[in-house]
Amino acid sequence: MKNKSYTDLDEYFSYLEKEFDLTEKDKAKATRKIKEMAQDLYILKSAFENHNQIEHYESFKTLIQVFEQQCMIKEPSEDSIEKEEIIEDCEEQIQVSAGAVGRDEEIKSSSKTLPQIEIREKPEGEKIISSPHNTDAEYTKKRNQKVVGHKGFVTETCDPENKVQFITDVNLETATHSDAQEKPRIEDRLENNGCKPESLYGDAGFVNGKTILESKGKGIDLAGPSSGRSQSIENFEREDRPLDIADFEVEIDDISKELSILLCLNKEKPLDQKRSDKGNHVLVHFDKDICTQCPLCTRCPVKIGTHTSTLTVNEEQYAGAARHHQYMESADYRKECGIRAGAESMVNEIANGHGACKSKHKTETMSRLQLIFASIRLQCKKIHQVYGGVRPRSSKRSRSGRNSRSYCVVSI
Ligand code: SF4
Repeated sequence: MKNKSYTDLDEYFSYLEKEFDLTEKDKAKATRKIKEMAQDLYILKSAFENHNQIEHYESFKTLIQVFEQQCMIKEPSEDSIEKEEIIEDCEEQIQVSAGAVGRDEEIKSSSKTLPQIEIREKPEGEKIISSPHNTDAEYTKKRNQKVVGHKGFVTETCDPENKVQFITDVNLETATHSDAQEKPRIEDRLENNGCKPESLYGDAGFVNGKTILESKGKGIDLAGPSSGRSQSIENFEREDRPLDIADFEVEIDDISKELSILLCLNKEKPLDQKRSDKGNHVLVHFDKDICTQCPLCTRCPVKIGTHTSTLTVNEEQYAGAARHHQYMESADYRKECGIRAGAESMVNEIANGHGACKSKHKTETMSRLQLIFASIRLQCKKIHQVYGGVRPRSSKRSRSGRNSRSYCVVSI
């Protein structure tokens, strides 16, 4: 392996292009290949980390970062002579190419015996690189789909009176950014841009007790199914389904917005109720003996203790549970929330018709810009439909920004 050039090194690593397949279904084979790749990352790292040019390349810095996040260096192995030679050959080349007067010692201090490289069980570091093509991209799971990249959020009007529905907000965030995190930011941007809706329709990712109350505080009715709950109407209607706080008779004070329990499902009044010391929950006590005898006790959320039965609840939990009941019990409400599904065609057009589903860029900022431009293109098309003499698809709609629906567009 002596007197090898960079071309030889290139040839050695050409398996990455020809044979290496990260979609390999054979787990043992894939694991073996990943180990091999980790070893080779080390070879490249050792070969070039002191090179006066290559060490400054962004791609090389990414390689080093990936190695440090994903790999651990163990004691030298005996069967790595071949790869060790590659490092030595490479070092020789570096000395020639760098004209490295006085750097020989530095370079020669690289490992002469190739150590064992192990893959970490969990990558280390604050921001783990998921794709070398976009180091800002993050990994997440959406339903059963594994996603590396970003996801976009697009909001459009949904007033049935509108001739055409217009886009009112666009943003792109990392794939791990949750819909519920983005919801208040969407509302703030809509308000700042004079597009504050009366109602905002989102899917379950956007809607929970906390976000419902937050929106209400801003004068927005956040509509949609409540997250974290089974959306099966059959399960909800089962006689043995577990009860929740929305099964209790509850009063919300008009001014303080604080909750108090009036009756349980068995028509029992609480013995007493008070705020917890931290003030974030209400502790509601019931007669333990009555609860023990109650036919609903196995379904009830009260905790039956030695002296008393306690229900621990807060306003957010109630808002989430009450929304779940509303969504499960009212076909009209489900139909109203179904208006959000109209955003699917807009999502599809931005993602596929205007190319936003694949980012052409390496950074989050540029990917965000790409999504914004894709949305502007669609918005121009919509404006043309209204003012350009093109007959809109639905002739029943007129312009208004009264209502908006929000939807996580696509992972890019
Ligand atoms: S277990 Fe107690 S609190 Fe629950 S429904 Fe029965 S009586 Fe009411």
